[in-house]
Amino acid sequence: MGSRRRSTLRVLGCALLITLQLAYIKMAAAENFVGAEIANIERLLDAERYADADSKALLLLEQAYQQQKIPADEFLSLGVLFLNTSRFEVSKVVFSAALERYTAKGALSKMALTLLHLATSERHLSNYDSSLAYVHRAMSIAQIERDDTLKARLNLELGTIQQQQGKIEIALEPLKQALGYFRDNNMPSEMSLSLLHIGDLYSTLNQTSLAHTYYRDALESIEKANDSRLLGIIKTRLGALLLKTSSPSQAIQSIESGLKHLDVTKDVGAIAEAKMLLGRAFVEQGDTSKGRKLLQEAMAFAQSSGQLKLMQEGRLALARAYMKEQSFELALAEARTGTIEARKHRDLRDQISFLSLQLNAFVSLGEFKKALDIQSVIQQLREALLDSENKSAIEGLQAEIEVIRQSHTLEKLEESKELALAQAEQEKLQTTLVWSISLAALLFTFLIWSRYKQRQQTIILRREVRQQTLTLQEKNEELQAAYRTLEEVSLRDPLTSLYNRHYLESQLPGEIRRSQFSSNQSTDTNKSKQDLLCLLIDIDHFKRINDDYGHIAGDKVLASFAQVLKHVFRLTDLIIRWGGEEFLVVCRQSNREELPELAERCREMVASTPFDIGLEKPINITCSIGFSLLPPDRKDDFEMAWERTFAVVDYALYAAKLSGRNGWVGVIETLNNNENKRTPIDHKFNFTGSRIATSFNNVASIKWPDNLD
Ligand code: GH3
Ligand code: MG
Ligand code: MG
Repeated sequence: MGSRRRSTLRVLGCALLITLQLAYIKMAAAENFVGAEIANIERLLDAERYADADSKALLLLEQAYQQQKIPADEFLSLGVLFLNTSRFEVSKVVFSAALERYTAKGALSKMALTLLHLATSERHLSNYDSSLAYVHRAMSIAQIERDDTLKARLNLELGTIQQQQGKIEIALEPLKQALGYFRDNNMPSEMSLSLLHIGDLYSTLNQTSLAHTYYRDALESIEKANDSRLLGIIKTRLGALLLKTSSPSQAIQSIESGLKHLDVTKDVGAIAEAKMLLGRAFVEQGDTSKGRKLLQEAMAFAQSSGQLKLMQEGRLALARAYMKEQSFELALAEARTGTIEARKHRDLRDQISFLSLQLNAFVSLGEFKKALDIQSVIQQLREALLDSENKSAIEGLQAEIEVIRQSHTLEKLEESKELALAQAEQEKLQTTLVWSISLAALLFTFLIWSRYKQRQQTIILRREVRQQTLTLQEKNEELQAAYRTLEEVSLRDPLTSLYNRHYLESQLPGEIRRSQFSSNQSTDTNKSKQDLLCLLIDIDHFKRINDDYGHIAGDKVLASFAQVLKHVFRLTDLIIRWGGEEFLVVCRQSNREELPELAERCREMVASTPFDIGLEKPINITCSIGFSLLPPDRKDDFEMAWERTFAVVDYALYAAKLSGRNGWVGVIETLNNNENKRTPIDHKFNFTGSRIATSFNNVASIKWPDNLD
């Protein structure tokens, strides 16, 4: 009996042992499996097969969730792999999983480290609010753990986020604190990184010599460490600074040397940033096609890694390149997309930059109405920007209140843990008590510190608002000046620099009123010089010039033609580019009897002038003219005077074209008798009888448009 029971026990014992061993092997296998998968993913990332790596990582995560076994350390290092290859969306998910695990275990230091990585991922994706929230959470842990190195690394991240948010003055403080710590503890890479970011700040503030000094220091401190990645990044930023201050060729040299360092490291993110800058430098240098190619490469990367900021930067540079190439429509398309994106992400500064580009493009395209509309939108956005800067300062304060809340929950967590221990061991209770008191004291100091910070921030805010108001005023004045030139420009035709229709429309009513007033006043004897005369001049067969010699030659002819007109007519006459190759002249204080003489002088001068179009031989052209007294009849009908006159000169010009070109037809005046033989023009305009002049044989030989069938 006794021996049977013993053997049963032995068998049971063996079975238990085997089960335990099997469970252990299974667990070890699971961990090995994760390790192997991570190695696979690393190989995929090395081979730049990003999409495959992404899906493999997400699958692995899914499996881990299903088995409810998340190896936090492995996932932390997997996240770092993705972070270093700029796959921020994936790194975010992986870090979150690790964070969840560490929080459950109450592993504070690991939590803080993961939070820091999460903050970096979010910053690259331009999610600054989440990024700041992560830093603040990690910072409160660092306070409790008294981990100064972590604090310094968090300060470095904090400064970088603020810098990218455009809060330059605020960002300087944490960066300088981080730098101090890294310098005291002899950490060259981190020190160099802090110096680099401070350099970036000064570069943004346009304090170029200070920025230069910091970049140089950053280089010096890294040269010993032989860190190719940082070396490459610093040289790239130096290039960016050179692009601002000196020639693009120097900048290109520095960036290309930076790229050489980066190529070794395979840091795709930094390489894309360098390419973006190099592209900008080439555009600046005038090599726009090379520049555009680089910009497009960098933009493709920014898009694939979800980096909005980098994407927009590229788009801005690309639009500028198109402007430089005078491809205004393409520039406009990029600027429009950029504006929409910036609006979607509520980035006022980017919106203003892209709208300014649109404004320039519209001015270059001669669409002044649209340009003016855009300008007023820019003005509104500038005001909104000032408002939002106030608001973001308030949000900063809220984030700090959040820190206090977070520390509070953490404190509770710690307390309950300590209490459980205290139940088991009485003496440990005392230690807990001391610990809690010091924690409370720490919290109290922290509270006072954050109050102090709040006050400091308000002071900075006030200063910033004052400065913003000043710059805003300056910008306003600049805009006013731009508005004035815009107005001036919109009254002239850019090709011939003659006035355009808008100008004529603004002048005519006054001129007609003046002419009618003085002719009513005067007696017959001094009536000689109160007439307004109108001539419509059109170049003959101009289309052939474009067809035979090209549009640019056509443009040259138009510009020279305008010069000929300036010779023929007086300074006080209004010479207008009416459209295409049609010109309209209004002569003031003239006598109607001068009309045939003027038309002939113009015809003759055009026919005898050689027009240079850049070929060996200049070409000859002719023009046709229709003219009329302004208005041709009934002087009292003031409102209709211009419309009637234009209809008459247009009709007369058409008649001149039909009658053989290189000639003129016009109405000198209409008479109040029915003796004359009525011509088609009298019928058309219901004149009682007009006095017509022409360069063709006689009035009877004129071919009138209405006689055509
Ligand atoms: P016609 O003797 O009957 O006036 O013949 P035309 O060929 O001059 O007449 P039409 O009005 O048919 O053609 C005018 C051409 O002028 C058509 C258009 O392509 C050209 N044109 C209009 N504006 C410009 C310009 O700013 N620059 C150049 N190069 N060509 C222009
Ligand atoms: Mg013509
Ligand atoms: Mg024409």
